[in-house]
Amino acid sequence: MHTCRNCNQSFQTELALELHRDTCTKGQLFCQVCGDRFREGDATKDGWHYTCPNEDCDGDGLQDDLFHVEDVRTATH
Ligand SMILES: [Zn+2]
Ligand SMILES: [Zn+2]
Repeated sequence: MHTCRNCNQSFQTELALELHRDTCTKGQLFCQVCGDRFREGDATKDGWHYTCPNEDCDGDGLQDDLFHVEDVRTATH
């Protein structure tokens, strides 16, 4: 079983989870260092300084390493 860590929805296969992660509305931020997605609230404590919530990743800074998924989509289309 594969579970989306953003919305806790479960999927039978890793592929199904991957497809879901592209459309998951709960995963609003994207870290370009580790390629992971997470909720905005997981990346910031004060709403000002953003860091990647993955412990083994040192991505930080909105617009530096972390981006809103919508912004990435518009930029690549
Ligand atoms: Zn999800
Ligand atoms: Zn990261």
